[in-house]
Amino acid sequence: MAKLNENYLNLKESYLFSEIAHRVDKYISIHPDTKIIRLGIGDVTLPIGSTMIDALHEGVDAMTSSSTFKGYGPERGYDFVRNSIVEYYKRNGVSIEADEIFISDGAKSDTGNITDLFDKDNIVMVPDPVYPVYVDTNTMDGRNIIYIDANADNQFLPMPDSNVHADIIYLCSPNNPTGATYNKEQLKTWVDYALANNSIILFDAAYEAFITDEALPRSIFSIDGAKKCAIEFCSLSKTAGFTGIRCGYTIVPKALTVTASTGALMSLNAMWNRRQSTKFNGVSYIVQKGAAAAFSEKGMQQSRQNIKYYQENAKIIANCLAKKNVRFFGGVNSPYIWFECPNEMESWAFFDYLLENVQVVGTPGAGFGKNGQNFFRLTSFGNRENTIEAMERIENLL
Ligand SMILES: *Cc1c(COP(=O)(O)O)cnc(C)c1O
Repeated sequence: MAKLNENYLNLKESYLFSEIAHRVDKYISIHPDTKIIRLGIGDVTLPIGSTMIDALHEGVDAMTSSSTFKGYGPERGYDFVRNSIVEYYKRNGVSIEADEIFISDGAKSDTGNITDLFDKDNIVMVPDPVYPVYVDTNTMDGRNIIYIDANADNQFLPMPDSNVHADIIYLCSPNNPTGATYNKEQLKTWVDYALANNSIILFDAAYEAFITDEALPRSIFSIDGAKKCAIEFCSLSKTAGFTGIRCGYTIVPKALTVTASTGALMSLNAMWNRRQSTKFNGVSYIVQKGAAAAFSEKGMQQSRQNIKYYQENAKIIANCLAKKNVRFFGGVNSPYIWFECPNEMESWAFFDYLLENVQVVGTPGAGFGKNGQNFFRLTSFGNRENTIEAMERIENLL
């Protein structure tokens, strides 16, 4: 009989979005003529800029002739994409090398697959509330997870406790779901902690393009010492609208090494290359053409227009909450607005309250961890008219 990975028995039912859909469907079945506005969406909605679209077409056209046809690509991704990422980081004042970059089909796969490099016997530190992928992928491997509290007292930016040891630390900044973003000083504290504890930081920078405050770090590698203790995950999903096209990249510095129990010095860059080339055959040439265009001056400009549109939505949401004296986080350097449910309401009760009274759908904070129990997430990925209308309805209700 096949023996299964029984760690799957320890996974919590992922019922957040199915429960939301269930409650909304039930409401619609009773009130078929109401207009529901969804501000719970965690996916981009605007079309992709023409520079990327043209490049994707060029990628397709290359397949039509044997002189330009492309089969399997290089293991880490095509040089033309990796070089454009090196240039992009350089423009942001961060120096990385092309062979430290691995092109992938997205940050979700990479943040999940990276666990292949680590023994089961590691203490994994995860903030609460959290993007559920970090927790579930480690649970699947049977790893112990310790949580650090992100709450209103620390502005949802938890800092390390020198008395608590962790081997692997997940940080996401700008954060999903809270929108909170670490400054350089705070990230430096995390890097120093990791260096002192010989731990590794897994840094999820999926929302770096939403940072407007020039002083905030877009990459952990803008912090001294980070190349000795951190891996960075990035994605074109939220930055260039590639959620459906699928492309991301992971940066594993060559300086990141760990001494094995045998005494051998192991390079995580070499291990990740081995892992990827064994279990993954790369992202299509077509998609990589589109990705390289996303890092070009013109492509960036077009994507920035989309981000600006979402940021304007975020401002509309934030202004309404501020007017109503609702305490909120995020919304400035992030597409997410995370706010305290009025009158100490529990987040699912508040979900029902909004649905029943103003037909606006958001995401209950409880779905991201215990510290989300009295919080609620709205996103700026909707369209302008709906965002305005939803916030007018909420303003009248609260
Ligand atoms: C959306 C998102 C990603 C991006 O995932 P892809 O697989 O690249 O689409 C990564 N991390 C977080 C926290 C996200 O919200």
